[in-house]
Amino acid sequence: METEYIDVTIEKTKKIALIAHDGKKAELLDWAVRNKEILQSHFLCGTGTTGRLIQERTGLPVQIFQSGPLGGDQQIGARIVDGKIDMLIFIWDPMEAQPHDPDIKALLRIATVYDIPVANNLATADFIIHSRFMNEEYVHPIEDYAKQMKSRLENVLK
Ligand code: PGA
Repeated sequence: METEYIDVTIEKTKKIALIAHDGKKAELLDWAVRNKEILQSHFLCGTGTTGRLIQERTGLPVQIFQSGPLGGDQQIGARIVDGKIDMLIFIWDPMEAQPHDPDIKALLRIATVYDIPVANNLATADFIIHSRFMNEEYVHPIEDYAKQMKSRLENVLK
């Protein structure tokens, strides 16, 4: 079957989710303070502890979800599906096992399905927020999985 695509628009004002594991929170906080001027033009949200700390440190408004291990990653994933989050800065800790590892995997997967920009380290986060696309609308084609689902359903029912 030929792959079909639909155009999805990431607006000029980005809806950015911020998450850092405990071993990486200090790094992300410093990064957020350094980049406060850029971040203040966008909508910010984050998992419980990360979101709260970023709000306190930068003074910027942050929508705060549950803590990651309590379902925060899943809440963010669901909003990516709904088009309410279109960028993910997720500084996970490669040296520490996490109790919610399946949620982390699910979040990273869904971010790929919806083709949103994802940074898993601060160098990538820097490249993303200094990109010219931060200051303009960005239209990207994503695979029309809904169409594929429909034809899959038809095949199943044959
Ligand atoms: P937290 O969640 O911001 O509430 O610490 C992040 C995580 O550990 O996934």
